[in-house]
Amino acid sequence: MKKIVLLAVLLILTAFSFVICAGNAREQQKTITPQEQVALVNDWLKGLNEVYIRTDDKEVSDQLSEVEKHGVLAVPKQKAIIPQRKMETGDFAIIPLTVADKHLLPWGNLYSSPNAASYSGSSKVLVLKSDNPMSLLYKGIVFSHELKHHSLDPDGVLMNTTAMSFCREEVVVHTFSNKLILKAGGDAYKEILNRRAKEWGTYFSDVNGKLPDVDYLSDVEKIFGKSLSSAEDEIRITNLEVGALYLAVDTYYTVGDKEEQKTSIMCEMYKANGNVLPEEK
Ligand SMILES: [Zn+2]
Repeated sequence: MKKIVLLAVLLILTAFSFVICAGNAREQQKTITPQEQVALVNDWLKGLNEVYIRTDDKEVSDQLSEVEKHGVLAVPKQKAIIPQRKMETGDFAIIPLTVADKHLLPWGNLYSSPNAASYSGSSKVLVLKSDNPMSLLYKGIVFSHELKHHSLDPDGVLMNTTAMSFCREEVVVHTFSNKLILKAGGDAYKEILNRRAKEWGTYFSDVNGKLPDVDYLSDVEKIFGKSLSSAEDEIRITNLEVGALYLAVDTYYTVGDKEEQKTSIMCEMYKANGNVLPEEK
């Protein structure tokens, strides 16, 4: 199964290199107004609501309530944030990060990171990179992914303890994202996932096997409509590949522990993607 991990890493690396390059469209814009900040967060909320409309998932409904109750819009400042209201117990800050924040440390590092969004339990900050146009559905998928980290590990204990606990949490969260996309896409998306998982299965079982070069992005666009940026392309493909890999592990991996296999895929993926994982103790 080593092969699966390596190829997965390669694919994801290719995927995220596009995300890194994206977001230059607003490079010239140096400041954004408070009204624009509010509008950006509202767009993410519309995305989350779109996921709820298309999945009728109770957990997404809970996430909407959680944001309403405890999400506080915040503006990044050098090594600090300015929340728009006093932070109470259970609250977390939501920062719609743009190129205007690129010169601020540590926000510039987050802006340049390959991740589309992030949640830090230790500082209670959820960051949403907001320069790239994205369909409402996939905006919602990205937001809901981070909110799942927030509900699962609000203080960031698992994310900060060991590489394995970090990667196990990612498996749970990606499994949740996969479920939502599958609910939204129905049988048509399931067919694509099955096809890709089968290709992975064949690839695992044949040492000389190659993965066919299929334009899965077009297949996904037939279900969810046009992707609006290269960053969204990569989010769509990454979610599809992770979903297909998990399905392939569930279907074809017969020796050893399936969850551990998924965990090691996540570890390789995140490390290759430039994330620094906690050191093993
Ligand atoms: Zn995650």
